[in-house]
Amino acid sequence: MEFCPKCGKLLVPVKKDDKTILVCKYCNYEKLVEPTSSYKIVQQVEEGKRRKTLVSEEPIGIKKRKEEEKELISDYYKVFLESYEEESEEQE
Ligand SMILES: [Zn+2]
Repeated sequence: MEFCPKCGKLLVPVKKDDKTILVCKYCNYEKLVEPTSSYKIVQQVEEGKRRKTLVSEEPIGIKKRKEEEKELISDYYKVFLESYEEESEEQE
């Protein structure tokens, strides 16, 4: 958490292009967020947590089923594209 050096109010993180800046809503002071080491550590911890929950919530059986689903979807799209191509050929 960072505070405005001008008026002491809380700086709010705002996405600007592909960067994040801290903006003071009171005096419009802007500060570019630099990737500090503490920020990186927080990210790593969060990713580790996410991975852990994924492993515990998804047994191998579900993962396998998901892969089968993916294959079904790609087959479906193949059929869809083939019939679409046939249709456009007929029209021409
Ligand atoms: Zn300010």
